[in-house]
Amino acid sequence: MLDKNIKEQLSTYLNMLENDILIKKNLGTDKYSLEVAELIDEISSMSSKIHVENATLKRTPSFSVNSMNEDTGVIFAGVPLGHEFSSLVLALLQVSGRPPKVDESIINRIKSIDRELNFETYISLSCHNCPDVVQALNLMSILNPKITHSMIDGESFKDEIESRDIMAVPTIFLNGENFDSGRISLEEILLKLGEKKDSSSLNDKGIFDVLVIGGGPSGSSAAIYSARKGLKTGIVVERFGGQVMDTMAIENFISVPYTEGPKLSRNLEEHVKSYNVDIISSESAKSITKNNDYIEVTLESNATLKSKTLIISTGAKWRELGVPGEKEFKNKGVAYCPHCDGPIYKEKDIAVIGGGNSGIEAAIDLANIVKHVTVLEFLPELKADAILQEKLNSLSNVTVLKNVQVKEITGTNKVNGLVYVDRNTNEEKSIALEGIFVQIGLVPNTKWLNNTLEMNKIGEIIVDKKCATSLDGVFAAGDCTDSPYKQIIIAMGSGATASLSAFDYLIRNKKNR
Ligand code: FAD
Repeated sequence: MLDKNIKEQLSTYLNMLENDILIKKNLGTDKYSLEVAELIDEISSMSSKIHVENATLKRTPSFSVNSMNEDTGVIFAGVPLGHEFSSLVLALLQVSGRPPKVDESIINRIKSIDRELNFETYISLSCHNCPDVVQALNLMSILNPKITHSMIDGESFKDEIESRDIMAVPTIFLNGENFDSGRISLEEILLKLGEKKDSSSLNDKGIFDVLVIGGGPSGSSAAIYSARKGLKTGIVVERFGGQVMDTMAIENFISVPYTEGPKLSRNLEEHVKSYNVDIISSESAKSITKNNDYIEVTLESNATLKSKTLIISTGAKWRELGVPGEKEFKNKGVAYCPHCDGPIYKEKDIAVIGGGNSGIEAAIDLANIVKHVTVLEFLPELKADAILQEKLNSLSNVTVLKNVQVKEITGTNKVNGLVYVDRNTNEEKSIALEGIFVQIGLVPNTKWLNNTLEMNKIGEIIVDKKCATSLDGVFAAGDCTDSPYKQIIIAMGSGATASLSAFDYLIRNKKNR
């Protein structure tokens, strides 16, 4: 079941088990049970510290990962392979007593929760956003005996997916009620549970030479370049990776022929951490002000940070259609991430809105899974590269509608179709659908700046060749700027430019020395 390569890596991890662990399994004779049985057999045969026994659990197949003397509440229902294999390995290590790589303050907040929380997370094995959520909730379950968490593979539990109307992954239930859908960090889960964080100590950090806002490719690059210059550097990160987290295959990151978004995100984080950079994590900036001596950044948590120079690297996020029905049916048939949610629409009729590269890539991917894809493009022609259009045209289960405008997404408790206008004839038409993937580009994350900097009409920060903005000492890099091309390598390059410019600015401005 596990190939040689994975077995070798797994063996290295299993050598790191601190204490014995007990896997309790509840299996039947169906094909998924047989797969889980094989997986457990392989893993347990690789370490004498792993013990296995039968038990009665709520779902078949499922198994729990426990210490020898206490149940942790961590349960995997279905087969935790694909992207969830790392969640299983991490659970084994953490249950065995290996300390998690999480701030002590977060650990204490989890341990202090004094109520029963039973989480269930529905995932797909191809969802690259799901492991973060599964691992966050597993950790909560391991640290606090009042918390349990079950990861449930939608493929193995299709009836539950149908009966609970799940149309996006990850979807989290808490104590039987819908809690959240989509990517959510550990910090955000805690905040949603009302477990407030104390950020007041951030006010005492003193004045940075360079403060970077945003932990995507441009921000990470800016922070590394600043630290390498010996500057007192801070970085405010909601989470590392940015849009890279929404990307699967990356084949144009020069000198790395192939990587995947989550891997590149981890590499970015590790690279930043290898330098003397003050990482202010799980925080986001809400405004900036400038006085004669420094720039002040106020965070959503109301803490303030001060810096002599600022590099804004807040990137961009999915653009929404803005038609009736979009918000109402988000995660109930309206989706933005084809890799994550595609498998839920297996053998269903879906639409992709947008005929640019991302739309056509999504349509090609989805056509392999779903029954039929309708692509809707506003313009008379698709804008995607010719090679993608050729591939699309070769697929028998795709229809392309050009020169059409989507007016409304319809449904009752979930999407059942959309209404569009044929712009050639002005005729209004509707299509019956079960899913709609919106792929119409990105908007810059610059609203929070509230026009303190000069921006173009689509909200991108206007920068010069040195990445300087209209505000003295404030630089910007990557997809939040008016740079004409938005790519990882370009974002990293502009992060480096912004950082070198900030260094230049600091040495040229006497008061900053
Ligand atoms: P982002 O990656 O957007 O990072 C910005 C970060 O700032 C985010 O983490 C965000 O949460 C954070 N942030 C936002 N607001 C705040 C705030 N107020 N306070 C604190 N933090 C904040 N490029 C390629 O080269 N190759 C590819 O194959 C490729 N594929 C792609 C596939 C998809 C689906 C997408 C969406 C993009 C793809 N790109 C690809 C483009 C590439 O990912 C971007 O160009 C690149 O990530 C931009 O980096 P960035 O750091 O400027 O911004």
